[in-house]
Amino acid sequence: MLQSKLFPGSLKENPKDEVSVSAKYLIRAGFIDKLMAGVYTILPLGWKVLHKIEDIIREEMDAIDGQEVLMPSLSPQENWRKTADRLNKIDVLFEARGANKESRRRNDATYVLSCTHEDIITPLAKKMKFSYKDFPLALYQIQAKFRNEARAKSGILRGREFRMKDLYSFHRSPEGLKKFYEKSKGAYANVFERLGIGADTHITLASGGDFTKDYSHEFQTECEAGEDLVFKVKSSGVCYNREITPSQASEFKVKEGLKEMELVKGEGVISVQELIKFLKIDIERTTKTLVYETDQGDFLLVAIRGDYEINEEKLCKVAGVERIWLAEAKKVKKLTGAEVGYIGVLNVPKKVKLFMDDSLRGRVNFEAGANKTNYHAVNVNFGRDLEEPKEFYDIKTAKEGDIFPETGEKYEVFKGSEVGNIFPLNTKFSEAFDYRYTDKDGSKKIVYMGSYGIGSTRAMGVIVEKLHDDKGIIWPEAVAPFKVHLISIGENEKAQELYEKLQTKGVEVLFDDRDMSPGGKFAEADLIGCPYRVVISAKTLEKGKIEVKKRNDDKIEFLNEEELLSKIK
Ligand code: ATP
Ligand code: MG
Repeated sequence: MLQSKLFPGSLKENPKDEVSVSAKYLIRAGFIDKLMAGVYTILPLGWKVLHKIEDIIREEMDAIDGQEVLMPSLSPQENWRKTADRLNKIDVLFEARGANKESRRRNDATYVLSCTHEDIITPLAKKMKFSYKDFPLALYQIQAKFRNEARAKSGILRGREFRMKDLYSFHRSPEGLKKFYEKSKGAYANVFERLGIGADTHITLASGGDFTKDYSHEFQTECEAGEDLVFKVKSSGVCYNREITPSQASEFKVKEGLKEMELVKGEGVISVQELIKFLKIDIERTTKTLVYETDQGDFLLVAIRGDYEINEEKLCKVAGVERIWLAEAKKVKKLTGAEVGYIGVLNVPKKVKLFMDDSLRGRVNFEAGANKTNYHAVNVNFGRDLEEPKEFYDIKTAKEGDIFPETGEKYEVFKGSEVGNIFPLNTKFSEAFDYRYTDKDGSKKIVYMGSYGIGSTRAMGVIVEKLHDDKGIIWPEAVAPFKVHLISIGENEKAQELYEKLQTKGVEVLFDDRDMSPGGKFAEADLIGCPYRVVISAKTLEKGKIEVKKRNDDKIEFLNEEELLSKIK
C-alpha cells in the first residue's frame, strides 16, 4: 500500500474527547474514527488488523469443529419474549422500527437489534437438527452486536455497536457440554496467545448469571483501562471476578477494654460517611444494616462492616432464595420499629432472619443502629449487648486487602478487560424453545447448550492498551496491518524497487512514498506500529545496504536484501 494513497492518514494530535490510550492512538494513527459515543468506523488500517484478529479466532473455532454462519442483526420481538421475557429484562437491549410516519406506514413492526444470539440460534438449530446423530453441534458467527451501554467512554473497549464472535454449542448431555466447554478453554487460550496478549490474559471464574449455578469463565486481560476487578489467589493462580470473589475481611483489631454501651442521639445522621464524622470513629467500627424482602415472603436483616457493600448475589445464595429487593421504608418501620437509617443489629425482633457478614467478627466497641429512630448505639459488644451469631457469612463485595478464606492469603488484585466469556447455558434456552432431540430409543430429550463470546473490536483495543509506548502502537506480527513500513528518504525510485520485490515475496508493505521530512515519517511509523521499519536513503544506498529497525527494539541494522528477507520471514 502506498502511504500517499492511504485513507485517511494520521492526525497531528491526540483526539481531545478520548481518555483511553487505545482510543487516542487508534484514532490519531487512522485505524478508527468516532461517529458518536460508543460507535466507531473501522478505517482501512483498522480493518486490516481486525480481519487478522477475526481470522485467528475463526481458525481456532474451526479447529474445535465450529461452523461459521451469519445471523441477521434484526430479530423479531417474539423470540426475546419466549426466553423468560428477556425483551423486558435485558437492560442494554435496543429496538429498531421505522424512523418516520411513511416508513411505519409501509411496515410498522418493531424489531430487536440483537445484543447476543441465543434467542435466535436456538430456534434455528431446533428447526434443523433433532436426531441424536446430529450432536454435538457448534455454530458461530462474527458480526456487529448492539448494546445500549450506560458508559461508552473507553473507545472500542466498550461500544454501543461492536463486533463479537459468538459460538453456540448443542449437546445430548451435560457431559457432552462439559467436554466441549473444556475444549473451548484451550481454543480461547490459543486465540489470546496468538493475539499477543496471552501472558496477561487470565481465565477468571465469574457468575453463571441466571443460566447456571456453576461458574462461567471470563478471559480477563490485565490492563489499566479494564473495567473489571479481578482477585487472584497467588498460591494457586485461580482468579475470581470481583462479583463472586469469596472474601474474608481484612482484620480490624484494636487493643482496648470493653467500654460501656451508650445511645447517642444523631437525628438525620444516616450515611456511613456522616456517621464517622459525627461520632469521630473509624469507618471499620460502623455497622451498615439493611432489610431485604425475599421472593419467599421473608424479611432478611443484613449487617456488614461500614466499609463494605452487600453483594446481593452472595446473599441470595446464603439465604437460599432466588430474588431479593430492599424492603420499603414502611415495611422496615413496621418490622423493626425504627425508621430506615436507624435500624441495626440490636433488639432485633425474633421473626426476622439475621445475616451478619464475617467483617463484623472480632470487633469490640463498635457502632450499630439501635432500632430506635434518631439513635445510634456506640461501644456495642458481642456477648454482652447482643448474642454473637453462631455463624458469620460472606455476603460482601470483595475489595482490595481482602483475604482468600481457604488459605488465609491476601488476594493480588488487578484491573481486567474481559476479552472473552464462556457460559454453560445448560437447558435455559432449550427449555424456553422446547428444543428436544429424539434419542436412539425414540424418547425425547432436552438439548444442553453453551455459549462462547469473544469481543474482536475490544480485543483490538486491549492489544493497543497492552502493547504501546509513548510514541505509538507496537503491533504483534500476527495482527499488524503491515509487516514492513518502508520509508523512502528522497529515494523513491530505489525504494519502489524494494517495495515491489518484497511484495512479490508475499511481504505486506506500507510504503511511505510521500514528500515529507524524515522526522515526520519516522514519528508516524512509530505511531502506526508496524513490526519492521525499513529505510532507503542516500546514506543507506551509499553503504549498499538497507536500514532495518524493529518497532520494539532500538537497535538499527544495515542489511542487504537477502539478509532483510531472512530477517523478516
Ligand atoms: P461487560 O461485562 O464488559 O459489559 P459482558 O459480560 O456483558 O461484558 P458478554 O455478553 O459476555 O459481555 O459478551 C461477550 C464478549 O463481548 C465480552 O467478553 C467482551 O469481550 C465483548 N463485549 C461485551 N460488551 C461489549 C461492548 N460494549 N463493547 C465491546 N465489546 C464488548
Ligand atoms: Mg461477559
